[in-house]
Formats: sequence, C-alpha cells, structure tokens
Amino acid sequence: VEEGLGNACLIQFPDDSCGFVDWGTQKTEPLERAIELIGRSRIRFIAASHAHSDHTLGIAQLLRECHRRKLRIEKFVYPASTLNKQTADLTAARIAAHECNIGMYAVGEDSFTAPPGLRRPPWLAFDEKLSWEIRILSPSILHVADAEVDSLLRQKVAGNETSFVFVFRFIGASAERGMGRFLLPGDSTPATLRYAQKTAEKFSELALDNQLFLVPHHGSKYNCPTWIDQYIHGAVIFSTPTDSRHHPSAKILKRLSKMKSNQCETIFCTSYAHTCYQSFGSKAPLQDNAIVQPGPCFGDIRMIVPQRLPAYRAASSHNGSLRRPYGHCSNAPKDG
Ligand SMILES: [Zn+2]
Ligand SMILES: [Zn+2]
Repeated sequence: VEEGLGNACLIQFPDDSCGFVDWGTQKTEPLERAIELIGRSRIRFIAASHAHSDHTLGIAQLLRECHRRKLRIEKFVYPASTLNKQTADLTAARIAAHECNIGMYAVGEDSFTAPPGLRRPPWLAFDEKLSWEIRILSPSILHVADAEVDSLLRQKVAGNETSFVFVFRFIGASAERGMGRFLLPGDSTPATLRYAQKTAEKFSELALDNQLFLVPHHGSKYNCPTWIDQYIHGAVIFSTPTDSRHHPSAKILKRLSKMKSNQCETIFCTSYAHTCYQSFGSKAPLQDNAIVQPGPCFGDIRMIVPQRLPAYRAASSHNGSLRRPYGHCSNAPKDG
C-alpha cells in the first residue's frame, strides 16, 4: 500500500462472502479496487490485526465508504485494546464504526465466559454449513492488557505484541501439508506466535500447517522464528516497505528461499525493496533500476487456497509486472 509497507488482505470465502484483514492506505485507488472486487458480497468482518498504521491507516475511510454505499459490515474486530490516543488510526476507525452503526469487538484468544476445559479460540467467521472457519489463535486478553498499560506508560500505540494470528481452514479437509489452510500472523512477535502454537496444540483441528503464509512483520528477522518453518508448505508472501534493509531481512529471505524446493513452492514479495538483490546478488539480476523507488500502490495479487490442492497465484493486477524487478522469485511467472 501507499508506503509499500502494509498488507491489505481481502479474503473471499467459498460462499462469496468476504472479510478484510488489515488495510494501510488512505488512497482511493485501492479502496475503489477492493469495492469493485467485493461487488455486493456479504462482508462478514473487517479486522485490524493490531493498531500500527501500516495495518490500520485508512480503515476509517474503508468503513465509511462501505457504509455510504450501503454495503453492510457485520463487525469490526481488533485486539482487546482500548487505551489509545484519539489521533491513532485504530481510534479513528472505531469512531467511524460507531458513527456508521457497525458492531465493534475487542477480542483475544481467551474468553472468561467458559470453563477452562471448554474454552475455545473465538471464531472470526464461519460458514453456516460448517464447511470452513477462520479463528483467532493469539494473543490472549491478559497479554494484550499488559502490553497496553506498558504502551500507555510509554505514550505509544500498543505494538506488535498485540497482533492477531488468524487461521483459516476448510472443515473436514486433511491437515496434511496444510491443505485448505492459511495463516495470517500480522506483525506477530515470537511470543504471540508461540501462544498461537500452544493454542493449536490444544485444539488439533487448529494446526498451524498452511498452504499460504504471510510472513510476520514483513519478514523482520526478529519476528519469524525458525520453528515456524515446519508449518509452511505452499506459498509464502512478504509484504514489505520500499527500500528497506530489514523487511524482509536478507536472513529470512534466504532461509525461506532454501525451503523452496521441498516444502514451500513459491515466494511472493510485494516489494520494491533492494533486499532481494542484496540477499542474492548476481543470482537476482537487476532489470530496471528505475523501478526501485517509492511508488503508488502496486496493485493486487490474487492467491487461491483450494480445499485439497496446493495454494497458487491466480492473477495479479495490471501493474504486477512492476512488482518484481529482481526475480529471485524466479519460479514465479514473470508478472508474479
Ligand atoms: Zn506492527
Ligand atoms: Zn506491519
């Protein structure tokens, strides 16, 4: 999105309903594109994985614009987070939700309403015929409460330690190689990812194995622990800022690219960053230096996660060809 940093995910479910995870831009072009993509689909939720701007900037406009066009949003969801500056993007989004009469839910993995043995991670959405579901694995409300007080004392917006980890799965599909599953961990820290792992261990249907993995915190070397590799099978997506040496870090990029042959089929990078070239040098020939510059939203990639087959890229928008000048993602099509 506009700073090349955030990742706006529109999830289109098998029954043609949809949901949003994160946003991150105030530009009208991606907003129009998203509205075009959803058509008259039922919008089950808009979720902010956490309060940082690259995940929440412009959510207020998204909410207001949907409302103006009479597209009903069933709920707006964010981590159990209430202590925020009035100027924060998440607060602006909550004010918009309030004014547009959209239900708001501050949630965490745990709920105090059920006895511990019966406690289950909350459903963000599920199909009425129970053919699929999307759940929240992390963080816990207690964890977020701590992080919030800490951030308030430091006069900062609560950070990555409050980031949601979402898992989607087709109910009934075998979890082998993560078929029919994807994992969206926002900017999760190793601690919140570990908590998600614990949740997944408690409820076997919520295995972390996946066919589509959005690399936490844009590939920062501090937020993607090596143990997570065992769960990654299909496609991996980095969403990264322009010209950053840290997102994705060369270390993470190299590590995940090594998995490519046997485990992870494809790496996609939504970046204009130099990192790929820095990581792979001459193996990643520089095609056009002029492309490496801050630019507008570079469009969208459409990934499909089928029920029993590996995830794949179905399409990317017209300017997708500008997205990958270096092409270490060399087994991807040219415009990938
Ligand atoms: Zn963040
Ligand atoms: Zn981020």
